[in-house]
Amino acid sequence: MSLHPDYSGPYEFKWSAYPNMKLSGLEVLEVRPDSNFVNIGERTNVTGSRRFLRLIKEEQFEEAIAVAREQVEGGAQVLDINMDEGLIDGLESMRTFVNLIMSEPDITRLPIMIDSSKWEIIETGLQCLQGKGIVNSISLKEGEEAFLNQASIIMSYGAAVVVMCFDEKGQADTYERRIEIAKRAYDLLTKKLNFPPQDIIIDPNVFPVATGMQEHRLNAMDFFQATRWIRENLPACHVSGGISNVSFSFRGRPVVREAIHSAFLYHAIREGLDMGIVNPSLLEIYDEVDKDLLERVEDVLLDRRDDATERLLDFVEEVPAEQKGKKNLEWREASLEKRLEHALIKGITEFIEEDTAEALDALKSPLKVIESPLMDGMNVVGNLFGSGKMFLPQVVKSARVMKKAVAWLEPYLEAEKKSGKSTGKILLATVKGDVHDIGKNIVSVVLACNGFEIIDLGVMIPANEILTRAKEENVDLIGLSGLITPSLDEMVHVASEMERQNMNYPLLIGGATTSKTHTAVKIDPVYSGPVVYVTDASRSVRTASDLIHEERRTDYIKEIDASYKRLREGFAKKKKKQSFTPIEQSRENASRVADASPVPNQIGIGEFRKVAVNELREWIDWSPFFLTWQLHGRYPAILSDDKVGEEAQKLFNDAQEMLDKMAQLKEYSIDGRYGIYKCTKEGDDLSLVDTNERLHFLRQQHHPHASLIDFLAEEDHIGCFAVQAGNGIERLLQEFVDDGDDYSAILLKALADRLAEAMAEYLHYKVRTEIWGYASSEKLAKDEIIAEKYAGIRPAPGYPACPDHLEKETILRLLKATEIGMGLTESMAMTPAAAVSGFYFAHPEAKYFALGKIDKDQVEDYSKRIELDFETTAKWLRPNFGFDI
Ligand code: SAH
Repeated sequence: MSLHPDYSGPYEFKWSAYPNMKLSGLEVLEVRPDSNFVNIGERTNVTGSRRFLRLIKEEQFEEAIAVAREQVEGGAQVLDINMDEGLIDGLESMRTFVNLIMSEPDITRLPIMIDSSKWEIIETGLQCLQGKGIVNSISLKEGEEAFLNQASIIMSYGAAVVVMCFDEKGQADTYERRIEIAKRAYDLLTKKLNFPPQDIIIDPNVFPVATGMQEHRLNAMDFFQATRWIRENLPACHVSGGISNVSFSFRGRPVVREAIHSAFLYHAIREGLDMGIVNPSLLEIYDEVDKDLLERVEDVLLDRRDDATERLLDFVEEVPAEQKGKKNLEWREASLEKRLEHALIKGITEFIEEDTAEALDALKSPLKVIESPLMDGMNVVGNLFGSGKMFLPQVVKSARVMKKAVAWLEPYLEAEKKSGKSTGKILLATVKGDVHDIGKNIVSVVLACNGFEIIDLGVMIPANEILTRAKEENVDLIGLSGLITPSLDEMVHVASEMERQNMNYPLLIGGATTSKTHTAVKIDPVYSGPVVYVTDASRSVRTASDLIHEERRTDYIKEIDASYKRLREGFAKKKKKQSFTPIEQSRENASRVADASPVPNQIGIGEFRKVAVNELREWIDWSPFFLTWQLHGRYPAILSDDKVGEEAQKLFNDAQEMLDKMAQLKEYSIDGRYGIYKCTKEGDDLSLVDTNERLHFLRQQHHPHASLIDFLAEEDHIGCFAVQAGNGIERLLQEFVDDGDDYSAILLKALADRLAEAMAEYLHYKVRTEIWGYASSEKLAKDEIIAEKYAGIRPAPGYPACPDHLEKETILRLLKATEIGMGLTESMAMTPAAAVSGFYFAHPEAKYFALGKIDKDQVEDYSKRIELDFETTAKWLRPNFGFDI
């Protein structure tokens, strides 16, 4: 097959008289004629990644940084950063994000590509950038003068530049137009400005293929040929393109997209493409693309047949049918190693015992079976996960296969010494007072898959037990986990105990309320050994091995120390700037509702017992469920997402099956209680009429000085509730654990959490529409209810508007919640873990807000109100302190 009539084989890279392009972050990237294709990571681009857009929109910069880091780890050589989205302030976002990643040495190793169609944003990016990056892009759209002007500014910053093939007449969409504009731009830059030609990157425009439009048939071919022409005729310059665009017509069909990307790159690189903006997780290896699919894709790209597009579309139609059809057992024909690897990657337990037996037969030693074919397979899984090609649920399923194989080998292992060599020994525990362990269990499985030996102590583990076991087992690392804010203090306590006992184990910190800042500011300073915050399960492997590996350890710790020191300095500066309105003044400044809430139909306590799983199913909010499994996106769109859709759908199906099982569990009980009370205000306290109880509210000490109590009139009504969905799953859970099936165990717990939230939503609905009855004519669809579009709120103690966890004691006492099997730990975590409690505010103006930081005067005042000494009060409110004590 030849690309064009006078095809003379692949483009041969030539050395030119010019130096090579050298880009840099902290390290140099030299793009040589004989370098491999340079891939530029596209996930930090708001137009290309919905997840990144959401993170930037919500200003979750720490998470956004994690996206950048994932790409570095996934093998990107340059990072493309784009903030061009109507809904965000592109300029500010660019400034903030680039400034932030500049202090992350593991990210800024790489050169950065500042990507925007707005010149102000580009210039802002350049002002924040260190090292030698790339501007993407400028063009002749606005004429020569603007073009040269911008190019000369870029040159003075020392950056390289991408030139889009665009001119006053529009975007180049034919071969001729592409080369005409490329040449004109190149000549202008090199002749008028002396722009170094090796720093010019031409983007000849990647357009979608197989659009069904006749005039698009040559879209790929024109790109290939233009690439060749540019490389042969414009010395020293480079050619790049945004590759994902080529498969735009196949959104939602990742298999086809991957095949198109791979084939497009294969041919474009042969024609001289040396850089490209890609999504590494949507790249299949060219040789591994299904042959039939590849042929159809190449027919389209190379314009080989008139019916090429239809044939590719036919294939797309066939795919789901084929997947749904009978099981494909072809892989059973492969070699033993390949079969084991396949079973591990695909999470298939069906044949694992017979294959393991065969391996034992061949290798004779059970230890050898584990160490070589099984661990080899797990390493493949670890690498695929590390590079974003496999997702968390798949990894956890792989672990299940591994465990089954090891369990089968167990009796034979007894004979041999079991110790084996592991990558490292890690002790994990959820700290005292906390009962949440889904995150920790996931981390444990992921680490075990990567060859670490895990000692998991479980939940509610006191410091001395953690430290004693660490010594006994001679571990390499300790990992602490926790979900609620009081656990933060407990972690500080564990760290200071480690210091007192002169320990030196590296300490990993993780869990929902932990953060890099808290770790740097509160934990790191009390312990002289290494302390590292781990964002999520996928990061934990890298962190653990960096901390254990002799050669990497010292550098890694140095890096972490430096970055935590910077964080502490930043934190101290920010804190100095804060000023607070005195609490008395804040009370005066507040605005309050003018009228009382509607009068309730009923006053007092009521309950719903043994609510059926099937009743609650439609009340489940699924988006957080996927998040637990590190699949990002909103339900239901996530099920057809390009990247994670397929896995999300499988996970969702498994969840449905598990819910069916839960519905059959006789002993399983989902229960809830509510109470509605007449109340009178006393300052920021609320006295509940006909009870001896008082509720206490905190108040913002900055504008608008809000407090939940402001949603009540002097005499009014308030409600509270407590629900649980965790009692009675123990037996099923134990079955899974005994079976080594972590996947099902985690799934079950995650679903119990979902059902507790669903129960809270259901109960709230009943209260609004019948029991309190203030919204008897509410007409909202389920998804609107799940989005909390109704009138009234149910703030939960421990959450931003009312961060004091102690108020849960009052709620549970009021409702006699022990009667529905609910309790509290010393850190005010509810038991069972799948439980929710909170208040009901019925006023239509009531809304959620965050208390934020408060000053010492309010803490003193509050400590009197709750009748605890200052020290004890401080323990509960410390995360909200805006001052030092
Ligand atoms: N549908 C979600 C609900 C949980 S998150 C799920 O299934 O996970 C939303 C809940 O968190 C609210 O109903 C409220 O109880 C609590 N919440 C959210 N923001 C809050 C705030 N600022 N202050 C107090 N409670 C808050």
